[in-house]
Amino acid sequence: MTFKELGLNEDILSSITEMGYESPTPIQEQAIPYLLENDSDLVGLASTGTGKTAAFGLPMLNQIDVNVKNVQGLVICPTRELCLQISKDMEKYAANVRGLKVTAVYGGTDIIKQIRTIERGVHIVVATPGRLVDLIKRKKVNISKIKTVVLDEADEMLNMGFKEDIDSILEVTPQEKSVWLFSATMPKDVARIAKNYMTDPFEITV
Ligand code: AMP
Repeated sequence: MTFKELGLNEDILSSITEMGYESPTPIQEQAIPYLLENDSDLVGLASTGTGKTAAFGLPMLNQIDVNVKNVQGLVICPTRELCLQISKDMEKYAANVRGLKVTAVYGGTDIIKQIRTIERGVHIVVATPGRLVDLIKRKKVNISKIKTVVLDEADEMLNMGFKEDIDSILEVTPQEKSVWLFSATMPKDVARIAKNYMTDPFEITV
């Protein structure tokens, strides 16, 4: 299968080509066409190295309306490193999409700079749970209009004790949204999140 056959828009296809991606990985082949066609929840049992960032990142970018100045996509992940990696990848995928803004917010660094960036207008926020909760409490980020939230490495986030943060974040997202959850394993706590926040999710295992 080729990327062109997956149904992504031309701007995204051209950046993928520039990045040297030749064909989609198995998780991309399964997730991307499905997520482009359906406003559905998704559970992906997949670990790092499978190409899962593009599997959720490309369909998320494809659904952003750059003319609407709200946060429309939210990615929550466990660490600063992953947060930076995901946002860098998303920026590369969006390199040819005019006006599309992605930002990373994570702890251990100046929150004021992050607030200023958000205030200038962003479409996609990639965040670690603690810092995002802080920004929400300060009313510096509004996630009430998101279309999609990705929970990446959900098992890691729960291992690190982010369960309550994740609950409080999901509570302030709109009812009408898609949740795409990725996890290498499916322990009880992850299954509970899936049960509480998702409806009849499409399941992919790679
Ligand atoms: P991930 O599992 O998302 O962390 O991706 C692992 C690595 O594979 C990253 O360096 C990606 O840039 C790269 N990658 C993802 N999808 C593809 C693809 N379809 N073709 C070539 N490289 C890819």
